[in-house]
Amino acid sequence: MTSPPPSRSQTTDAAIRARDLVKTFRDFWRRPKVEAVHSISFDVPPGQVFGLLGPNGSGKSTTIKMILGLLFPTSGTLEVLGASPQDTGVKRRIGYLPEESYLYPQLTPLETLSFYARLFNLPAEEAKERIHQLLEMIGLSHARHRPVGEFSKGMARRIGLAQALLNDPDLIILDEPTSGLDPQGTHQVKNLILALAARGKTVLLTSHLLADVEEVCNEVAILFNGRILAQGTLDSLLTQKQKTTLSFPTPRQPDTLRELMKAAKGILGTVPALTHPRQALEPYFLEVIRKAEGDFATSGAAQDAPLAPFLEQRGG
Ligand code: ADP
Ligand code: MG
Repeated sequence: MTSPPPSRSQTTDAAIRARDLVKTFRDFWRRPKVEAVHSISFDVPPGQVFGLLGPNGSGKSTTIKMILGLLFPTSGTLEVLGASPQDTGVKRRIGYLPEESYLYPQLTPLETLSFYARLFNLPAEEAKERIHQLLEMIGLSHARHRPVGEFSKGMARRIGLAQALLNDPDLIILDEPTSGLDPQGTHQVKNLILALAARGKTVLLTSHLLADVEEVCNEVAILFNGRILAQGTLDSLLTQKQKTTLSFPTPRQPDTLRELMKAAKGILGTVPALTHPRQALEPYFLEVIRKAEGDFATSGAAQDAPLAPFLEQRGG
């Protein structure tokens, strides 16, 4: 007899557990001014991709900064990897991509990542190997000696991502990871997020780009004015159980469809909707570009670069 899988709702298992979290910013005279986060509660299950969605100013970055221990909650409780966000052991297990990457423009990618590797106290050999693997992964090996000040927004974003993964974190927090990226860069980042989650990492991301979220997140919380308006798995939020779609190859003979519709009406009592499914724009766009590129490599992100090998190792 096999035992049932452990319940995901066990709160002690959550990678992040927020309860009635409030953050009020005060003005110069310490008067409460902006209630950026108003009593939110959520659980981020381990090994899942969780999306905090919401328009600008809804409190996403403020929530992230509390999780990172950069801001103190005004009230409420927050548990990150089973401890307080201020716990230094916990901080070491987190990777963070800020909304704006602050890169020193005169440093090269190699120097930038080496700088962060030293902050993490990575042994020199290990650092060198990880940086090499990460630059391959984000498709910037060819530009490793160019100052990052010359980089496009997308390239800078990818450096930020590499930096967030240097310490091989268990919990990866990405604030607007796809902002400023072209569709290929976006596609690469989404694949990377899925690959990380497949290796058991937990990912919390924020975005206002819903198409990006839809493909990678298991669960989302929709924030507005510091409040969670809706939350749950994408399946539970989006699946229209009251409707059923049937898909089959288009019959060669038009009569076949007519007969099918007649039969369906007879059985169901209503005429079902008949449409051809439409593919999403992103895969179509990527396919068009891929064909045009042929065998030529571009300066952009490698289409499906594999995960850096040091991130592949499970456990820990
Ligand atoms: P989002 O990331 O969803 O765009 P933020 O968390 O950055 O939203 O901001 C939420 C609200 O809090 C906004 O109204 C913003 O102006 C305000 N806010 C954020 N940081 C500060 C701060 N340091 N001082 C005062 N108000 C702030
Ligand atoms: Mg933000």
